[in-house]
Amino acid sequence: MRRVILLVIGISFFIVPLCSAQLAAGEKGKFTHADTLRGSITPERAWWNVIHYDIHVTPDYASKSIRGMTVIRWQALASGKTLQIDLQQPMRILSIRWRKSTLKYKREGNAFHVYLPKTVKKGSIETLTVNFEGTPREAIRPPWDGGWIWTRDSLGRPWMSVACQGLGASVWYPCKDHQSDEPDSGATLSITVPDTLVAVGNGRLLEKSAPAGGMTTYTWKVVDPINNYDIIPYIGKYVSWHEDYPGEKGKLDCNFWVLDYALDKAKEQFKQADSMLHCFESWMGPYPFYEDGYKLVQAPHLGMEHQSAVAYGNHFANGYLGRDLSGSGWGLKWDFIIVHESGHEWFGNSITSNDLADMWIHESFTNYSETLYTTCQDGVEAGNDYVIGTRKNIRNDKPVIGAYGVNDEGSGDMYYKGGNMLHMIRQMLGDEGYKGLLHGLGTTFYHKTVTTQQIEAYISQFAKKDLSKVFDQYLRTTKIPVLEYKMNSATLLSYHWTNCVKGFDMPIRITVTGQKEQWITPTEDWKTLSLGTQGGAGADTAKENPVAPMGNTAGTGTADTSKPGMSPAAGAVQAGGNGSGDGNFSVDRNFYITVKKLG
Ligand SMILES: [Zn+2]
Repeated sequence: MRRVILLVIGISFFIVPLCSAQLAAGEKGKFTHADTLRGSITPERAWWNVIHYDIHVTPDYASKSIRGMTVIRWQALASGKTLQIDLQQPMRILSIRWRKSTLKYKREGNAFHVYLPKTVKKGSIETLTVNFEGTPREAIRPPWDGGWIWTRDSLGRPWMSVACQGLGASVWYPCKDHQSDEPDSGATLSITVPDTLVAVGNGRLLEKSAPAGGMTTYTWKVVDPINNYDIIPYIGKYVSWHEDYPGEKGKLDCNFWVLDYALDKAKEQFKQADSMLHCFESWMGPYPFYEDGYKLVQAPHLGMEHQSAVAYGNHFANGYLGRDLSGSGWGLKWDFIIVHESGHEWFGNSITSNDLADMWIHESFTNYSETLYTTCQDGVEAGNDYVIGTRKNIRNDKPVIGAYGVNDEGSGDMYYKGGNMLHMIRQMLGDEGYKGLLHGLGTTFYHKTVTTQQIEAYISQFAKKDLSKVFDQYLRTTKIPVLEYKMNSATLLSYHWTNCVKGFDMPIRITVTGQKEQWITPTEDWKTLSLGTQGGAGADTAKENPVAPMGNTAGTGTADTSKPGMSPAAGAVQAGGNGSGDGNFSVDRNFYITVKKLG
């Protein structure tokens, strides 16, 4: 979620990364040993796998401090004796217990080297109990910078939560803070609060204790694997309602938690969860966490994709804080936070990148889920307008993929540029093909952590076409490919790719006057096309899609085009295409390239 806001919410401050060390250290050569401890699989992390977190926390609103305990259940993947546990300053560990002994440990900044008294053998399942306390870093402008949020609702009552994506969950609780290791059997979160307040967590409410001494404990449980940064308490004057959604895997429990005074507005606005689930299940496959249910929880910040408890703070209004990020008008027809943050349940939460550098897997697919939702609601051309409209937000400042092993995010272009790259892949596959791709990704990498290599290879394999140069171009360079063309005569067109990675061979859809749309596959070498014929012998053209994806024998992209592209309600701005030269030749606007006519 986070970078989208850095980029967009306020032109006035997006240039200054807010607080997060891993953002500030965005350039090579600036990384520290602490970044490596945070962002790599250190030897003290590699030999054990987290099975479960049992987190207990009691916040103290007056002093902005918390105390608690994390019980970490883990399995030794190899024999070992020293573990790295993360808890960021200024939080403190009070004790670490294993079996019946209290362990020694050494603090190194935000990492703790924990020494077992004897070697644990491979395969052994163990438990560490870590007691902690302190005043966690406070989020000043959540969710853009991370930390605990201590605020008041509009009636002056305490309202607390956390936002810590990127920064890391170790900002408040001890854990193995690396994206590659999710607790395989989920997590339990017990939140102890004054009995005048309500505490909401991920998954299902397991238990609410009887008040004692003015305090009540709410225990929430998820059974599916979950990202550390998704495990979040929400504490305030919450009320809730429940709905059953008839989904692709049966009844999906939907629960909505909002502040008491927001109930009426929320009930109206959250109706969009229904159309969102319908659209996303159709395009991306079943909601990935039926076991834990789906929740929207009103949050004291704009929003975040907290698994099975999505944070919502978009003021019960459409758009992104009332704005349309695409400028096309379509973005004002739906609630950005309901759509985008829920989209992360498929990409980000079910499928998680091992390394923060590959965060495009979260944000590009989720950004593109906005286009899919627009397409579901208002038709293919509306979706096209939307994704093309977002191109104005692309900066091409640095590659989308960041530096590995140091908890580094790549460019914020992972949103709009990544979305536009996927839009082109959808053109190549056709709509049924792209649906099949998303379903296949969702099944193959269900509840897994992945590398970009795995995702790229899967897409190429699915498309039965090597798309590696497309990924290299759009994810690993800041260059936008240029299609140069010239008319050799009234009937002969020459074209080639330039400003591209070596071997770039992305097919594009073009129109030649008087003919139907057709595909060409330019390369760096010049090719020619006779304008007098279409798809003739030896010509570099095809009427149908250039790839024949698995499970899509038709190989064409004509599905679901029944809804006409109506005009948006207000503020319509027609998104521009790539332009064309001279009326004889034009490139489909759905391709994010530059077209240049020579001579
Ligand atoms: Zn996001």
